[in-house]
Amino acid sequence: MYQKLTLYIDGQFIEAQGRQTQEVINPANREVLGHLPHATNEDLDSALLSAERAFASWKKSSPTERSTILRKVAQLTRDRAPEIARNMTLDQGKPLAESLGELISCADHADWHAEECRRIYGRVITPRHPNVRQFVLREPIGVCVAFTPWNFPYNQAIRKVAAAIGAGCTLVLKGPEDSPSAVMAIAQMFHDAGLPPGVLNLVWGDPPKISDYLIRSPITRKVSFTGSVPVGKQLASLAGAHMKRVTMELGGHSPVLVFDDADIDRAAQMLAKFKIRNAGQVCVSPTRFYVQKKAYDRFLATFTDTLSNIKVGDGLTEGVEMGPLAHERRVPAMERFVEDARSRGSKIVLGGDPISGKGFFFPPTVITDLPDDAMLMTQEPFGPVAPIVSFDTVDEVIARANSLPFGLSSYVFTNSLQTATRVSNELEAGMVNINHFGSALPETPFGGIKDSGIGSEGGSETFDGYLVTKFVTHI
Ligand code: NAD
Repeated sequence: MYQKLTLYIDGQFIEAQGRQTQEVINPANREVLGHLPHATNEDLDSALLSAERAFASWKKSSPTERSTILRKVAQLTRDRAPEIARNMTLDQGKPLAESLGELISCADHADWHAEECRRIYGRVITPRHPNVRQFVLREPIGVCVAFTPWNFPYNQAIRKVAAAIGAGCTLVLKGPEDSPSAVMAIAQMFHDAGLPPGVLNLVWGDPPKISDYLIRSPITRKVSFTGSVPVGKQLASLAGAHMKRVTMELGGHSPVLVFDDADIDRAAQMLAKFKIRNAGQVCVSPTRFYVQKKAYDRFLATFTDTLSNIKVGDGLTEGVEMGPLAHERRVPAMERFVEDARSRGSKIVLGGDPISGKGFFFPPTVITDLPDDAMLMTQEPFGPVAPIVSFDTVDEVIARANSLPFGLSSYVFTNSLQTATRVSNELEAGMVNINHFGSALPETPFGGIKDSGIGSEGGSETFDGYLVTKFVTHI
């Protein structure tokens, strides 16, 4: 049994009832799993009005009430994880163990927001005159609209929902039409946890049409988006034209810097496994591999050997380590990257061609001898394709790592404290991971700089995008 798919507006689960629907496909075998109802403009109006009505009371709710609901959702996430994870593997493709891992870590996100929302403080400013009182209040911004992607369906949505609801905002969320089950499960859990009607509304449809309609609405005060840089820029421009606050979690092109003095085998094995997580469809995926000259051959051999042993298949099959790509559009996208590399005389060391069969499978692929202006070195592949190139000096690799407009994550492997300090100071990235992978915990801020976005999710920064500052003074 796959997840039942509906709209969720004003506390009601609304079925298709004559609305346009969209097939949801299993990327491992192209089977139709279900039909997703698209929201009409009337549905969008009802969702916005319902969020506006709910805001009038939700903004006055106590942090304890918000916290209690978030905690219940955390517990429900743990209780329902096996079923939600199975459905996520069916419509998104990732191996079941990865789906389960996403669910369990997301329960932590809900718990952490439940704790942190009780600590949204203002401040008192010492006045110039003793009879004056000066306060800074932090108030919820209002009705938010959020757009979340298909790669981590549960994770990307719960971070926005928990931050908005914890701050006292209400929201209209458009989830990922390609992989909707986990976001549907989120709506069901908040409903079951007793969230008042209208605080969370869930809609589906044609992404550009829905985002355009929701962002332009005078009811909307804030826009949060996770997805590609071009779409993010488009939505941020529209939000700017209507003076709406934005949080943008956009794409990356994470550089990996492996220095001669690192533990090369450990780095190569860890990075190979990390690269194929979610079939490489991760905004913080390690993407450009710069390996220092002396370590290059050994790194390439171990990295390629580890990837050549990865079991690829249907994510529900025991032992599978990498599933299909999430939807049909990703396969030709991978082929374009490989084709560009071939046309530049690069060497395809592993993989390179789609795996034949019904599903959207592309194998782990390793490519060397690429110029820095190759497509793979400059555009986000968002798949299991790894370019590996060499470098000589620290100065050179920092300059090459910083040469793109992206600034999301970065990875460094070195046993020199001096090198670690220097690169963490100089890398232009929102996140720097040295000798391990430590990003994306609920208590740490997650976000990019440069073209990779605006604002952070997680960490004590998580509520900043959902609060406005009000100064009150009296005598
Ligand atoms: P895409 O750009 O069509 O869609 C990416 C995501 O944005 C999808 O969830 C889609 O529904 C949404 N989207 C697209 N246009 C939109 C609009 N006008 N308004 C609101 N939402 C919109 O491409 P795709 O083939 O689905 O994904 C490929 C690219 O998307 C990747 O190369 C990657 O750069 C990016 N992406 C990034 C993340 C991330 O976590 N940052 C997640 C998924 C996809």
